[in-house]
Amino acid sequence: MTFEFDAPQEQATNLAVNRSCATCSGDRFVLYATRTDTYNGHSAEVEELAPCPDCNAGVKTQFERPNGSYFRSPDPAKVRERLTR
Ligand SMILES: [Zn+2]
Repeated sequence: MTFEFDAPQEQATNLAVNRSCATCSGDRFVLYATRTDTYNGHSAEVEELAPCPDCNAGVKTQFERPNGSYFRSPDPAKVRERLTR
Protein backbone atom coordinates (compact mmCIF):
# COMPACT_ATOMS: atom_id res chain seq x y z
CA MET A 1 0.00 0.00 0.00
CA THR A 2 1.38 3.41 -1.00
CA PHE A 3 0.37 6.60 0.69
CA GLU A 4 0.51 9.97 -0.99
CA PHE A 5 2.99 11.32 1.53
CA ASP A 6 5.50 8.65 0.45
CA ALA A 7 6.05 10.53 -2.79
CA PRO A 8 9.26 12.58 -3.03
CA GLN A 9 8.64 16.07 -1.73
CA GLU A 10 9.87 19.30 -3.23
CA GLN A 11 12.28 20.68 -0.60
CA ALA A 12 13.09 24.07 -2.05
CA THR A 13 10.40 26.73 -1.74
CA ASN A 14 12.09 29.62 -3.50
CA LEU A 15 13.75 28.15 -6.58
CA ALA A 16 13.27 31.30 -8.63
CA VAL A 17 15.77 33.29 -6.56
CA ASN A 18 19.01 33.90 -8.39
CA ARG A 19 21.73 33.58 -5.76
CA SER A 20 24.59 34.14 -8.16
CA CYS A 21 24.69 37.94 -7.74
CA ALA A 22 27.97 38.74 -5.99
CA THR A 23 26.65 42.09 -4.77
CA CYS A 24 23.52 40.98 -2.88
CA SER A 25 23.74 37.13 -2.86
CA GLY A 26 20.20 36.93 -4.20
CA ASP A 27 18.58 39.33 -1.71
CA ARG A 28 17.78 41.79 -4.55
CA PHE A 29 18.16 44.65 -2.07
CA VAL A 30 21.22 46.04 -0.30
CA LEU A 31 21.72 48.11 2.84
CA TYR A 32 21.91 51.74 1.76
CA ALA A 33 21.87 53.72 5.02
CA THR A 34 20.89 53.61 8.68
CA ARG A 35 19.09 56.34 10.57
CA THR A 36 17.49 56.81 13.96
CA ASP A 37 13.74 57.45 14.01
CA THR A 38 11.94 58.80 17.06
CA TYR A 39 8.24 58.22 17.54
CA ASN A 40 6.26 58.89 20.72
CA GLY A 41 9.46 59.26 22.67
CA HIS A 42 10.92 55.94 21.54
CA SER A 43 13.83 55.83 19.17
CA ALA A 44 14.96 52.96 17.00
CA GLU A 45 17.61 52.43 14.38
CA VAL A 46 16.09 51.98 10.94
CA GLU A 47 17.86 50.31 8.02
CA GLU A 48 17.20 51.81 4.61
CA LEU A 49 17.41 49.31 1.78
CA ALA A 50 17.81 50.05 -1.91
CA PRO A 51 17.43 47.81 -4.97
CA CYS A 52 20.65 45.97 -5.85
CA PRO A 53 22.33 48.02 -8.60
CA ASP A 54 23.61 44.86 -10.31
CA CYS A 55 20.54 42.61 -10.52
CA ASN A 56 17.49 44.67 -9.55
CA ALA A 57 18.12 48.20 -10.82
CA GLY A 58 14.93 48.31 -12.89
CA VAL A 59 12.47 47.48 -10.11
CA LYS A 60 9.74 50.05 -9.51
CA THR A 61 9.86 51.16 -5.88
CA GLN A 62 8.22 54.56 -6.27
CA PHE A 63 5.10 55.21 -4.21
CA GLU A 64 3.00 58.23 -3.26
CA ARG A 65 3.02 59.30 0.37
CA PRO A 66 -0.23 60.36 2.07
CA ASN A 67 0.88 64.00 1.79
CA GLY A 68 1.10 63.71 -2.00
CA SER A 69 4.88 63.62 -2.27
CA TYR A 70 6.66 60.69 -3.88
CA PHE A 71 9.21 58.29 -2.48
CA ARG A 72 11.89 57.28 -4.99
CA SER A 73 14.74 54.86 -4.52
CA PRO A 74 18.22 56.34 -4.80
CA ASP A 75 19.86 56.23 -8.20
CA PRO A 76 21.68 52.88 -8.83
CA ALA A 77 24.96 54.79 -9.30
CA LYS A 78 24.59 56.31 -5.82
CA VAL A 79 23.82 52.89 -4.35
CA ARG A 80 26.94 51.47 -5.98
CA GLU A 81 29.00 54.35 -4.59
CA ARG A 82 27.78 53.60 -1.03
CA LEU A 83 28.60 49.90 -1.42
CA THR A 84 32.22 50.60 -2.19
CA ARG A 85 32.81 52.55 1.03
ZN1 LIG B 1 22.08 41.66 -6.72
